[in-house]
Amino acid sequence: MKIDDVLEMTVKGLAAHGVESVAAHCNYCGKTWPAPIGVMPDATTLRKIRALLTCPTCDRTDIDIEPNWPDALSSH
Ligand SMILES: [Zn+2]
Repeated sequence: MKIDDVLEMTVKGLAAHGVESVAAHCNYCGKTWPAPIGVMPDATTLRKIRALLTCPTCDRTDIDIEPNWPDALSSH
């Protein structure tokens, strides 16, 4: 799946795949933290969530996010 396609997925669509949170990564300081997505409206896309996130360490908004896929679907 291309990254652009993932970013267009919605909270509802991700929940259907068992995704309840995303791993957020700050491109400035390197901090990675889990961000719950269940608190967002169903129609919120990952692109929107990424735009809303701010690094808790350095307050920058240069953030990458990746869905925390359930283990069964993980490619790792
Ligand atoms: Zn940071």
